[in-house]
Amino acid sequence: MRELRYNPLTGQWVMVSAVRKKRPWRPEGYCPFCPGAEETGYGWDVLVLPNRYPVLDLSADNPENPEDKGFYKKARAVGKCGIIVETPEHNVEDLDELSLEQMKRVVEAWMRITEQSSKDKRIAYLMIFRNKGKEIGVSLTHPHGQFYALPFIPLKVRLKIDNSRKYYRNNGKCLFCRILEEELASNERIIYENQDYVLFMPFFANWPFESHIYPKRHVQFLTQLNRREIENLADVIRVTTATLNTLFGRQMPYIMGIFQAPFNERTEFYHLHIEFYPILRDASKIKYAAGIETTTWEFTYDGLPEENAERLREACRT
Ligand code: UDP
Ligand code: ZN
Ligand code: ZN
Repeated sequence: MRELRYNPLTGQWVMVSAVRKKRPWRPEGYCPFCPGAEETGYGWDVLVLPNRYPVLDLSADNPENPEDKGFYKKARAVGKCGIIVETPEHNVEDLDELSLEQMKRVVEAWMRITEQSSKDKRIAYLMIFRNKGKEIGVSLTHPHGQFYALPFIPLKVRLKIDNSRKYYRNNGKCLFCRILEEELASNERIIYENQDYVLFMPFFANWPFESHIYPKRHVQFLTQLNRREIENLADVIRVTTATLNTLFGRQMPYIMGIFQAPFNERTEFYHLHIEFYPILRDASKIKYAAGIETTTWEFTYDGLPEENAERLREACRT
């Protein structure tokens, strides 16, 4: 059984599925993503697999009569959940341990997933993300990312689209390009820069060491990247993770998300970007999204973003 349930109070969809409960929790002595496992086989560098416990399914036929609605709205949980196994090596802790070549292959896998999802009219939005660290709650430690090809545009993404559309209408300019311009001019929160990308802590950071990657070229999708931009994206992701893992001299648990434009709307004003939400505020202290964050979705920031950006810059130099 799987279905989408609409929350009329917030305008969000909840993805309901009984299969999710069956997923293994940190199995010992067996890894489903290692070479030679049931679904993996041998002779690969990067592997894209369907999630075995998907909350969305392209053949979803529940609820049986989505049109036959009472007060509450339901929809079919049509979509796809997948896994990107980023290396055959089980013990790699983070993307900074991959070679540049290997990281490029991961970026190319993201591009292929984007290409495929964009061709399916039922898919409205693709979210590629990565959970890292046991503090985040990963159930399998083999290096992997995930993707959800969604039949709707998530609320947070809709807000970003609406606000950047408004900015574009009022100013004839991309809001993300404008943010980049501002960051480069002030140079207060820039952590790293290569020919094609800027890594910085946003002025409005929520997490103590939140870090964003913006491509310098105004593009909406990973599939628009050229050879050099693919290589430089691999570079900036390795640098970002290395920086976060150097900051406290320990592995940094984080969530990463790749924000591309939606598929079925004209959004040339939108701009591809990647966000990292590292959850540590200190070597042994976690910043929890607790009371105010969870009740209101608004964050408090302990300290000054500019000071933490300086610490990240220092870690990056190291
Ligand atoms: N999974 C899978 N095949 C398996 C075992 C697990 O596809 O044989 C999926 C599982 O459903 C889960 C993901 O692998 O979604 C592991 O993801 P992670 O630990 O990052 O976080 P989770 O999704 O469990 O919160
Ligand atoms: Zn493994
Ligand atoms: Zn732009």
